[in-house]
Amino acid sequence: MKILYAAMIACTLGSCTTSTSSAQNQTNQPETSSEREIVATEVDEHFHEHDTVQESSESVGSVSNGSLKNGRIVPFSGKNYHYFDTTSYLANRGFTHEKVLNTVLETYEVLDSLLPGKHFCIMECSHQQGGKLYPHRTHQNGMSVDFMMPKLKDKEPYYGLDNLGAQHYMLTFDKNGKYSKDPSIELDFNTIALHILELQSAAKKNGMSIEKVIINTGLKDELFATEHGKTLKQSGIYVVRNLSPLINSVHDDHFHIDFKLD
Ligand SMILES: [Zn+2]
Repeated sequence: MKILYAAMIACTLGSCTTSTSSAQNQTNQPETSSEREIVATEVDEHFHEHDTVQESSESVGSVSNGSLKNGRIVPFSGKNYHYFDTTSYLANRGFTHEKVLNTVLETYEVLDSLLPGKHFCIMECSHQQGGKLYPHRTHQNGMSVDFMMPKLKDKEPYYGLDNLGAQHYMLTFDKNGKYSKDPSIELDFNTIALHILELQSAAKKNGMSIEKVIINTGLKDELFATEHGKTLKQSGIYVVRNLSPLINSVHDDHFHIDFKLD
């Protein structure tokens, strides 16, 4: 089911690889340096073309049945982060409510001071005008954001799986957070917990809060066992307790946040 869901994202973005075994080799990301330069220019132009909205953002309806007015485009990259997939970005899937954008950017700034040198990836957000973001059930009103799980290899920060594009949604980690194809690569639960705590703190400054964190429920024990995870557990931030098998299976390579306006 994981493969099916993730493949739907990949196919939506025009890269129909349905085998996880090829996830590391077949991505929809540009391969040669000249291809990368062309795409980098397109991405840059795309950002500037859409980074013109002045009016206040408005979320209409709910995360699962809604739309977005005056959404903001997420910058493709900054000092310590980048958007995970150029095709997704150019397909207008990297828009969000202005307060969510401010929250995310302020969080990356704080994380840069707390964890200098560490790099993060933001994954799918919302369409420019919201609405259905196939195959996600939510992400409709600019209040939902997917964040890539930070990883470790042999206990050191590891970025070797960060540039797979939409194929990243296909990666599988076991209930201890170890990568299915190389158990020396594992999820960095302490950083995940800190990331969530800092998102909440930045959200509060922007008149928002986290409504819900969606992460594979089998990973919660590992998450809450870490130093920052203990703080997260006490924080009152709602981390989902029950998910359908499909939704559970696709939330091991990323965590999903629904924000709400306070
Ligand atoms: Zn999501």
